[in-house]
Amino acid sequence: MPWRSTARSTRRFRPRDAVEVLRASFLYLSHRRGLQRFVTRQRLTASLAHRFVAGDRLDDAVQAVTKLNRRGWSASLDHLGENVSEEKAARVATDDYLAAFERIASERLNANVSVKLTQLGLDISPDLCQELLARILQRAQQLDNFVRIDMEGSAYTQRTLDLVLALHQRYPNCGVVLQSYLYRTVDDVARANEAKVRVRLVKGAYHEPPEVAFPKKADVDAKFAEEMQQLLLHGDYPAFATHDDRLIEATKQFAHERHIPLDRFEFQMLYGIRRDLQVRLLREGYRVRIYVPYGTEWYPYLMRRLAERPANLLFLIRSMIRERRAA
Ligand SMILES: Cc1cc2nc3c(=O)[nH]c(=O)nc-3n(C[C@H](O)[C@H](O)[C@H](O)COP(=O)(O)OP(=O)(O)OC[C@H]3O[C@@H](n4cnc5c(N)ncnc54)[C@H](O)[C@@H]3O)c2cc1C
Repeated sequence: MPWRSTARSTRRFRPRDAVEVLRASFLYLSHRRGLQRFVTRQRLTASLAHRFVAGDRLDDAVQAVTKLNRRGWSASLDHLGENVSEEKAARVATDDYLAAFERIASERLNANVSVKLTQLGLDISPDLCQELLARILQRAQQLDNFVRIDMEGSAYTQRTLDLVLALHQRYPNCGVVLQSYLYRTVDDVARANEAKVRVRLVKGAYHEPPEVAFPKKADVDAKFAEEMQQLLLHGDYPAFATHDDRLIEATKQFAHERHIPLDRFEFQMLYGIRRDLQVRLLREGYRVRIYVPYGTEWYPYLMRRLAERPANLLFLIRSMIRERRAA
């Protein structure tokens, strides 16, 4: 690990090293199921989670999206859950997504849905996953809606792309997510553009080894900028999902220089993060979609949000101190 000092090492431990340690720790903890049970039962962590999660139920998400739509944002609903190990759970998740599409239609919401393939049983059987995803895509197509397939850790990248590219031929109403931290993504962007598959470009939220991903943030950002340009020039309605001011400015600038109309792409951001930026972009006339997670399985999602910004932990500690004093 790059931050580990050895007896021979003379490099001093810098604040950035501490952030890296925290980041890696949160991503490690995101896979610890035993801890998940403990953490989700704690009132404080539950209250921190609710900064980033619309609520436990579909009703909560519908309420949140209604408010967002009223103010001009579109949304993507994410029913939290991943890495299911039983077929029954994958089928329940599928039914939940079908229910979400019915509510979007009946409430006339401006929203689509984001799905993780490990929630639909990718770890159990690729055939099961394909069957369940096809059911969701078919219903979404009947309702003239769209399904975004989230991208998970690199162990799933190829399988996710293969499945999306195969199903896209029958259901063009699906798109994928590509992560600029992976070396392979430049090529994947070209493949997606060629197949006219819609891409959401992100930096990437999982812990990846240097064999597959750029270890340095500067390289990840540079690749994001390069891939953003390829998507704006050759992609089908790309989405740029970042809260990074510099990359958002670069996207705006490039679109302006190339006379790309503002309705040919969108920005996407996470519920509860950089609301100032969400408002500003909307006021400037850009399309902005908010990713709205809901459900009780928020533990891995929360850990990834803490990893992205360990300062979120300070919020948790401050709340703990306040609660202790009030008790
Ligand atoms: C709509 C959407 C969908 C996504 N889907 C996927 C996916 O399918 N697969 C995947 O791997 N990743 C996904 N991500 C996560 C993404 O990969 C990044 O981990 C995440 O967006 C943080 O990176 P950033 O681009 O905002 O840039 P950073 O450089 O990490 O952050 C830029 C600034 O944004 C703010 N910020 C960022 N994260 C947080 C946070 N957690 N809390 C508070 N402030 C924060 C801070 O002000 C920070 O300085 C998604 C992100 C978005 C917005």
